Amino acid sequence: MSYTKIDQYLEKNLDGSIAELSELVAQPSVGAQNWGMQECAQLTARLLAKRGFTVEVLPTGGAPVVFAERKGRNADKTLLFYNHYDVQPAEPLELWETPPFEPSLRNGKLFGRGVSDDKSHITARLYAIDALLDSDGELPCNVKFLIEGEEETGSIHLPKFITANKGKLAADACIWEFGGVDHREVPMQYLGLRGICYVELSIETAAIDVHSGVGGSIFENAAWRLVWALNTLKDQNEKILIPGWYDGIEPPTARDRELFDLQPDAAEEYKTRYGVKKFLKGVTGGTDLFMQETFEPTCTICGLTSGYQGPGSKTVLPARASAKVDFRLAPGQKIERCLTLLRQHLDSGGFEEIQIEFLGGGPAAKTNPDDPFIKLVVETAEEVFESRMELIPMVGGSGPNYPFVHELNMPVATAGLGYPDTRAHAPNENIRLDLYVKHARHMARVLKEFGK
Ligand SMILES: [Zn+2]
Repeated sequence: MSYTKIDQYLEKNLDGSIAELSELVAQPSVGAQNWGMQECAQLTARLLAKRGFTVEVLPTGGAPVVFAERKGRNADKTLLFYNHYDVQPAEPLELWETPPFEPSLRNGKLFGRGVSDDKSHITARLYAIDALLDSDGELPCNVKFLIEGEEETGSIHLPKFITANKGKLAADACIWEFGGVDHREVPMQYLGLRGICYVELSIETAAIDVHSGVGGSIFENAAWRLVWALNTLKDQNEKILIPGWYDGIEPPTARDRELFDLQPDAAEEYKTRYGVKKFLKGVTGGTDLFMQETFEPTCTICGLTSGYQGPGSKTVLPARASAKVDFRLAPGQKIERCLTLLRQHLDSGGFEEIQIEFLGGGPAAKTNPDDPFIKLVVETAEEVFESRMELIPMVGGSGPNYPFVHELNMPVATAGLGYPDTRAHAPNENIRLDLYVKHARHMARVLKEFGK
C-alpha cells in the first residue's frame, strides 16, 4: 500500500500539530502538586472532540480519565491508545534553559515539561488520525483513547477504573504511551514491565525525641529498631529473606533469553554512564545482566529518615524513623500477597510496631513477542525508521500494563518518539521533531494495516 499521500500530509502540516502540542504543554498538569489537572483533562478532551471523537471526562477518585472513541470502516477491529496527560514536577526550575511551561522550539527540538512524557504521544497520534481522515475521510478501524491523569503518581485509580469499565475499553490491541529509538536510532519494542510494590515503613518509639544521655540506655531507639527490621528483609547476596517471597514466580522463557541474546552488551555503557565498577551478584554483562536487570525481584531502600542530620552533633534519641522501600516484582508475584508476607515477616521477627503504608504499585505483565499485533507494529516500523524494530522481552521499570494484558486481555505494544536524550522527568525535557513525524507516520500505518 502506498503511504505517499499520508506522508505528504504529515510533512506539510507539522506546524499545526506542534502548535497544538505547545498549547497542551503550556497547560501545567502536575499530578504531585494537583496543579491544572481538570483544565488539562478538558483541553485533552477538546483535542479529541475536534477529530469527531465521542469524548467523556470520567471521575476516578483522583484526576479524571479522558475516554474517547470513534468508529472506523472496519467495525470488527478496535485499537486502544493508552496515554496520560499528567506530568512530573518541573523542579529544579533553575536548571531549565527556558521555562518548563513555555514550550520553546530550537534546533529541531521542542522543549517543555511533559513534552515527551507524555503529551507529544497524544498529539502525534491525533496527527496520524488527521492524516488518515484527510486521505480516506474515515478511520480504518475503531479507535479508542484512554488518557489518564495519574500515571506519574502511580496510576492509583486506574486498575479499578479498568475493572469497572471493561466493556467500554474493550479492544483487540493496545498501543502503549511510550516507546522510541535507542542510541543507534533503532526503534525498540518493550514487551513487558516489571511489577512494583512501594511501601513506607515507619516506627514511633516515644511521644517526643529524648536527650540521648537520658533515653539512650533505658528507651528504645526508633532508628535502631527500623535498621534492625530492614536488615531482616534482604541478605548480602541480594536474596530477599521474607518467607514465601519467591513462590509463584513465573520464570522467563527460553524465548525471552533468546531476545536478550540478540542485544548488544550493555555492561560498559552502564559502567560509564553511572560511574560504577561492577554489578551485583558477580554478573559481568551480556544476557545475564539483562535478565538480572529485568526479571529479578528486588528490595530497594529508596530513602531513610530519622533523628538529626544537620551540621555538628546533636545528642538525641529519635522518637521516629521511617524508610521508603520499593520491591520490584517478577511476573507471577501479587501485590496483596506480598504485603501480607511482609506483615507476617515483620511480626514474626518481633517488629509488630512497624507500620506498613502501601504507596502504590502493580504486578508485572508482558505481551507475547510472537503475537500477530506485535509483528504488525514491528513490520510497519521498518519502512518509517529504516531499521528493524528490536524486541525487548521485559524492562526493569514498572507501569500499569497488568490490567490491559490480564483483564482486558489484549496485546500491548510500545511505540513512540522517545530517544536517549529526551530527558523525561528531568530539566530540559524535549522531543525531536523528526521523530515526532516518524511516530505519526508509524501510527498511521499501524491503524491502516490493523483495519484490513
Ligand atoms: Zn513519566
